[in-house]
Amino acid sequence: MKDTGESKEHQLTVALRIRPLSDAEQEEAATIVAHRVDDQMVVLMDPMEDPDDILRANRSREKTYMFDVTFDYSANQEEVYRATTKGLIEGLISGYNATVFAYGPTGCGKTYTMLGTDKEPGIYVRTLNDLFRAIEETSDDMMYSVSMSYLEIYNEMIRDLLNPSSGFLDLREDSKGVIQVAGITEVSTINAQEIMELLMRGNKQRTQEPTAANQTSSRSHAVLQVAVKQQSRSRDLLQEVRFARLFMIDLAGSERAAQTQNRGQRLKEGAHINRSLLALGNCINALSDKNGKYVNYRDSKLTRLLKDSLGGNSRTVMIAHISPASVGFEESRNTLAYADRAK
Ligand code: ADP
Ligand code: MG
Repeated sequence: MKDTGESKEHQLTVALRIRPLSDAEQEEAATIVAHRVDDQMVVLMDPMEDPDDILRANRSREKTYMFDVTFDYSANQEEVYRATTKGLIEGLISGYNATVFAYGPTGCGKTYTMLGTDKEPGIYVRTLNDLFRAIEETSDDMMYSVSMSYLEIYNEMIRDLLNPSSGFLDLREDSKGVIQVAGITEVSTINAQEIMELLMRGNKQRTQEPTAANQTSSRSHAVLQVAVKQQSRSRDLLQEVRFARLFMIDLAGSERAAQTQNRGQRLKEGAHINRSLLALGNCINALSDKNGKYVNYRDSKLTRLLKDSLGGNSRTVMIAHISPASVGFEESRNTLAYADRAK
């Protein structure tokens, strides 16, 4: 985070991560079209074979895009976490909500960034670890309790990833007006290894269906919800003084339904996914608008759930993901445009 300014534009951080070439891509000597230029700039080259076609179409071969921070193959998980999410923890224990989400086409590294692997854990576990550490270091007349839930939104339906057999869950407003997922499992372990195992197991429960576009495309949004309750110990009474939530979200693949030759069920999914992503994009776009556009959260389950954690005093971080390879050019261009529009 570059700052903790109060102004609106600083409440939204947009990051861009270009994943490394995969082994298969390296073997077939794939052409790289997306390059990180510096901390804030990325350039995308149009791989069209005939440069004359580009000229005729009145397009430039290279286009640059600006972000708050950029990463490529040389960035490790810790660096990505530090530059995007670590700065939210202080706000969280002071009562400010926040949202971090991974956006991009299937196969471009969203789950790697958020969940990661046992050896290279991602933002989920790093955040929880630092949160527990920060709480331990905070004054002793405050009592904190942290609980986490892990859910998926698939076709506008909510499922508990820590208890998948519980069926579809509803969104409800509690007595304080906070949107809650009714009946969701809440876990309050502080053991990092245990958390990682829970999340890994939960992730295997995510709805994944093969499509023509990709064998293991994720059609669901995975949402890790971390609730921090703060109580003061004054006069032997425990009084709740603050409540804040952090949402960390591994969004469904952003590839267009039209491009996957989907029919029937798959096409419906595509429409639902686009609806949530579009609604999210509209919200973020409205929030970043300096003239204070109206923000409509009602358009999708995802944005309804996030209502109190987008805008207002909340901080939002979007990490957009792209492939470096030429085969991903169209999707990379769409993703860069979406992330660009968010700013
Ligand atoms: P997505 O969730 O967007 O569909 P994944 O996170 O599953 O994509 O990434 C696809 C593949 O690429 C996985 O095998 C993942 O481990 C690998 N990968 C993605 N990003 C990176 C990265 N930054 N470094 C190393 N491997 C990565
Ligand atoms: Mg994924």
